[in-house]
Amino acid sequence: MKIKEYRTQFIAELTPIYDATEAESFFYLILEEKQQLKRIDLALQPDLVFTDEAILVWNAILKSLKLEIPVQYLLGKTSFYGLDFEVNSDVLIPRPETEELVDWIINSQKSEGENQKIKILDIGTGSGCIAISLAKNIPNAQVFALDVSEKALAKAQKNAVLNEVNITFLHQSILETVDLEQEFDIIVSNPPYVRNLEKEEIKKNVLEYEPHLALFVEDNDALIFYRKIAELAKKNLSDSGQLYFEINQYLGKEMIDLLEKMNFKNIELRKDIYENDRMVRSTK
Ligand code: GLN
Repeated sequence: MKIKEYRTQFIAELTPIYDATEAESFFYLILEEKQQLKRIDLALQPDLVFTDEAILVWNAILKSLKLEIPVQYLLGKTSFYGLDFEVNSDVLIPRPETEELVDWIINSQKSEGENQKIKILDIGTGSGCIAISLAKNIPNAQVFALDVSEKALAKAQKNAVLNEVNITFLHQSILETVDLEQEFDIIVSNPPYVRNLEKEEIKKNVLEYEPHLALFVEDNDALIFYRKIAELAKKNLSDSGQLYFEINQYLGKEMIDLLEKMNFKNIELRKDIYENDRMVRSTK
């Protein structure tokens, strides 16, 4: 079967669930990953065909996409801050909002100068996307990454190797940590922050396939991770150290209150590209 014909069929089958642009972007992502062909190859060689074997693979993927399994899990990879990351259902798929947080940290470090060695800790690293992109872009940093999930850490470790960076991984539950036992210049975290009451807004692809451990918190204590991490930051941040958080867009004010109560200084709230309150920085 001609690939172009298959493409038409593929997009038509997915458009009740996804919009046509998204269905088309899935097609080209899979084409590149499974056939090592780009859009331009198909344009230049319109008669290219799929073997029967290839069609079996594509049909299986199509079936999974109809179940709304995220394409990143189906391909086992995604990209974040220009780097490749392996992902599976043990880790949250890296989000563009988190790229903005990483960008904030990298840019502020550039203005700090790059001579002094600094120590960075990423709490709840998941796929390792924050820790690895920081290690890659802040050459004077020694990076540590912590997670409660052993399976997530295995993926993060693989991603560190893939991206050729050195990270010290720590298997630990932050809620049970009393002291981090060393001093860091930057502590960063994108902890679980979606309240159960927000579940209705969450799409099926997230709700049914991404790890709940990485996403959800109880409605009555939504800032549990932030409070705990801020307490540890009081003990384990260096004097001029910075604390960066990705936050729930509905809890910007509550986050500021929490940090003010704990006497953090220079509290700065930033919006993401969708104009939602999404990240906060403060110093000890
Ligand atoms: N931003 C993610 C989402 O909307 C949530 C990430 C998190 O809970 N830390 O699915």
